[in-house]
Amino acid sequence: MSDGVRAGVVVTGSELLTGKVQDRNGPWVAQRLASLGVEVTDILLVGDRRDDLAAGLRFLTQQRVDLIVTSGGLGPTADDVTAEVVAGFAGAPLVLDPAMERHIAELLRKWAARTGFTGAALTEANRKQATVPAGAVLLKPVGTAPGLVVTVPAGPVVVVLPGPPRELRAMWDAALNAEPVRNLLAGVPPFTAVHLRLFGLPESEIAQTLREVGAELDLSDIEITTCLRRSELEVDLRHRPGAEAAAARLVSEIEQRHGRYLVTRDGGSTDELVARLLGGHTIGLGESCTAGLVAARLADRPGSSAYLLGGVVAYSNEAKTALLGVPPELIEAHGAVSPQVARAMADGARATFGTGVGVGVTGVAGPGGGTVAKPVGYVCLCVTTSGGAVRESAPVLPGSRADIRERATDLAMHLIRRVLAEQPEPAR
Ligand code: ATP
Ligand code: MG
Repeated sequence: MSDGVRAGVVVTGSELLTGKVQDRNGPWVAQRLASLGVEVTDILLVGDRRDDLAAGLRFLTQQRVDLIVTSGGLGPTADDVTAEVVAGFAGAPLVLDPAMERHIAELLRKWAARTGFTGAALTEANRKQATVPAGAVLLKPVGTAPGLVVTVPAGPVVVVLPGPPRELRAMWDAALNAEPVRNLLAGVPPFTAVHLRLFGLPESEIAQTLREVGAELDLSDIEITTCLRRSELEVDLRHRPGAEAAAARLVSEIEQRHGRYLVTRDGGSTDELVARLLGGHTIGLGESCTAGLVAARLADRPGSSAYLLGGVVAYSNEAKTALLGVPPELIEAHGAVSPQVARAMADGARATFGTGVGVGVTGVAGPGGGTVAKPVGYVCLCVTTSGGAVRESAPVLPGSRADIRERATDLAMHLIRRVLAEQPEPAR
């Protein structure tokens, strides 16, 4: 797909270059633009220096972008130079906007009353933030600085947003609604996107399917991206009008060949799906090596109190027995990390919390403690239900201690999903 609207992102901040702070704006903006059908060519990270920012803007012009989004450097301090540099880039003089100055003065007045800082410094800060490139569209401040939309003559539209991620996100919709941006986005050719989420399928299998289907079918009008994340494989297909038949055929081939690995096909997340499936059920958890990560994952979602009744972190053998009723003999016979103990933990969690669904997780997260029979990464998971359904898994997961614990949590979510997908609705 090409001939659409192209955009570049410039993230400013010297603290981002030293690695002290991780960039949370570039990927976020890029994703938003991509979802609108805009092709993002580059994300640049530059320090708080006039020359470097100006060089970044010139580079993106060479990249023939129609839109530039910048983040950061809008504040009152000397290293906040974005408005000034963008004005220079657009050939527009900087002018004081009296209405914005009054608006910021009002915001600052409340702040000053709280903190006791008043006077010259504040007035200066206020004036700097209300000094903007002539002709810019101003976006209402979320902090104390307005966002800017600047149209460069015979050049791109530049959207200037604040650095703090919360402020940038809060200003995003207003930026899209600014007239120059609206006009640009109106030129994005319509497209259709299909998002497939698969679990447990290696990337190489999808690659092979794409090769085989591609040998029979012209896929050149479909943009296909695959991404492995959180143990899941996401396959995104995007196409313009005209490629519907080829796209439908490709989706149906993937469904036919890999249907049992398919989690969602509407872009929905696994966590959303699990939350939906848990509706009308109750769940309790017994966790050892994940020590609450599964509980935290479920509780991430608002409304989870409707089904998540509780979880126990049972790290020691004694805790497994005392809190989840795992018989000491079972641990003695099979070891604390064993499918038998995982199952007893799942059953015990159901009993402890009086839930319909129980989850047990026990494993060797490492880096020490592995044996030949039970190496680092060996994790036993089990989900049981009061209706007698049992789902278990005992893989050796790769990676560091953190990776193993995260992957075990992912796997637990998918076991819960599989149990619930096969369960009839509970009688109410
Ligand atoms: P302020 O008025 O707060 O100075 P600003 O628009 O000038 O706003 P910056 O000075 O660039 O923004 O950044 C302020 C703070 O916001 C930074 O110290 C950093 O903690 C956070 N921040 C800025 N940019 C990013 C980013 N890309 N990712 C994550 N955090 C960021
Ligand atoms: Mg700043």
